[in-house]
Amino acid sequence: MQTAPPPPLFPLFLDLRGRRVLVVGGGAVAARKIAALLEAGATVQVVANALEPGLAALVSHRHITHLATTFAPTQLEGAWLVIAATDDAGVNRAVADAAQARQMWANVVDDAALASAQLPARVQRGPLQIAISSGGASPMLARHLREQLELQFDDAVGALAQLLSQLRGRIRNRLPDLSARRTFFRRVLTGPAQALLRRGQAAAAQHVIEAELDAGARHVQGSVALVGAGPGDPGLLTLRALRVLNDADVILHDRLVSAEVLALARRDAERIEVGKHIGGDHDATQARIHALMIELANAGKRVVRLKGGDPFVFGRGGEELQALRAAGIGYEVVPGITAAVACAAYAGIPLTHRAHAQSLRILTAQGKSGATEHDWTALAKPQQTLAFYMGVTGLSALRDKLIAHGCAASTPFALIEHGSRPQQRVVAGSLAELPELARLHAVLAPALLIIGEVAALATQLHWFGAPPLTAADARCQPPLLAHAA
Ligand code: SAH
Repeated sequence: MQTAPPPPLFPLFLDLRGRRVLVVGGGAVAARKIAALLEAGATVQVVANALEPGLAALVSHRHITHLATTFAPTQLEGAWLVIAATDDAGVNRAVADAAQARQMWANVVDDAALASAQLPARVQRGPLQIAISSGGASPMLARHLREQLELQFDDAVGALAQLLSQLRGRIRNRLPDLSARRTFFRRVLTGPAQALLRRGQAAAAQHVIEAELDAGARHVQGSVALVGAGPGDPGLLTLRALRVLNDADVILHDRLVSAEVLALARRDAERIEVGKHIGGDHDATQARIHALMIELANAGKRVVRLKGGDPFVFGRGGEELQALRAAGIGYEVVPGITAAVACAAYAGIPLTHRAHAQSLRILTAQGKSGATEHDWTALAKPQQTLAFYMGVTGLSALRDKLIAHGCAASTPFALIEHGSRPQQRVVAGSLAELPELARLHAVLAPALLIIGEVAALATQLHWFGAPPLTAADARCQPPLLAHAA
């Protein structure tokens, strides 16, 4: 039987200045813990019959005393915290039990089950600390993350924290209003100060921050970032999109944007879904989106307009920029991985291939007023790949048009539903059976339709999720067939 995972540990940073901490054990591990405790200002009492040489040297430190004896529960008297760092499991357990009886927190090195308090892996930059815990699930994983963070944050972060700490009083006096302070910090944190500190130019960094402080009271004009969120897998977001999302005050997102992507945005950014619902009045919704973006930007907000895939591919991004330009609002565009590119990749379908396709067409199956008029004769030609967006309905008409204009009924297709997401499904077959197969497998939006010789490669090259579903799979499901008949 599966047991429920334990609840997460509660993280806490302790002020140990002048507080007594008992460490049981006198070896190298104890020495490492003691060094960290002393750094935090603790008064350390170490219990051990013998001390390793490095530790013995430390004992001359005025904040550390040595009890050259074995552990006894009375030694816990007056201590705020105890760390058991011996290699004797019996002693470690005795320490944990004695601490438990006194309702005192005990860390037992390398024994998460016995410990009531665990020490995190940590990254330290000046006054700034990042602590990581896996709750005992995998200390190696926590350590691995720590190494990644070590690379990601250089000493400039610590220097910046130090500088901001010095300026804290002035910042509060100058900008008593919380939202003004927030704007100031955002500008400072995304501005050049950190880069200056990295180059050792502390005075210049301070000057930049002070200038920002002087400007802080002035009204700041907001702006809009039109951002592509990609097809759903948060790993397919660009670094710039991530940065802009971390910086946003308000996020206006489409329904197509996945929850996993939204979860990466700044925690206290307001999220507003402005998606167009099926059957709704799309033009009215679009006009409301324009008005909302302009209103928010005029109120000084950093607005992110977040769209599935790429904002300029069937995303009405162009219309939104035109509205912003007309209103005199500043904007930037962050491209995203569009559905055709992502779905093809995650289905194992090369969009071009020297043997099969020398061009790619990006098309919509739905026009402005429903049915789409395409140059069907051109689309029916071989040696190309057609990628149809919004291609879940109207598949019979699509097939009939292509075949009527000379496209072979045997031309392969692949329909990719929820591409790049955990629930991705691929349905593959030949053009002749496209609408029937889509119905049999109950394909729903969002799905992308790829037509062309390359689509057949999905069967051979698929790597993500289940292999493509075919007519044979449909035949294995008699209730569905009966339903369709
Ligand atoms: N701007 C988006 C497209 C918006 S139109 C882009 O660049 O991808 C919406 C259509 O995109 C859907 O009907 C579907 O055809 C396609 N689409 C978007 N995300 C998809 C996904 N994860 N899997 C399959 N199709 C997707």
